[in-house]
Amino acid sequence: MERTCVGCRQRSSRVELIRVVQKAKFLVFDSTKSLPGRGAWLHPVTNCLELAISRKAFNRALKLTEQIDTSGLIFTTEQAETMLANK
Ligand SMILES: [Zn+2]
Repeated sequence: MERTCVGCRQRSSRVELIRVVQKAKFLVFDSTKSLPGRGAWLHPVTNCLELAISRKAFNRALKLTEQIDTSGLIFTTEQAETMLANK
């Protein structure tokens, strides 16, 4: 099954992407890829993350009405790469 990366807008299979969900006022990585609700798909690379943030792509993908804190994502990109390696 293919998903579109909200950063670079390229399609990839879901095993190559990580899922981002909203948790309270923050965006977090969904390590199980199965949390309920809307999810945004992203390549686990800093470039795609920065693109997504600068385009406010998370707001669109997750239908967010207010600005959300993405700092949690920035600091865990490395963790995301580990997550993906462990898939
Ligand atoms: Zn991407």
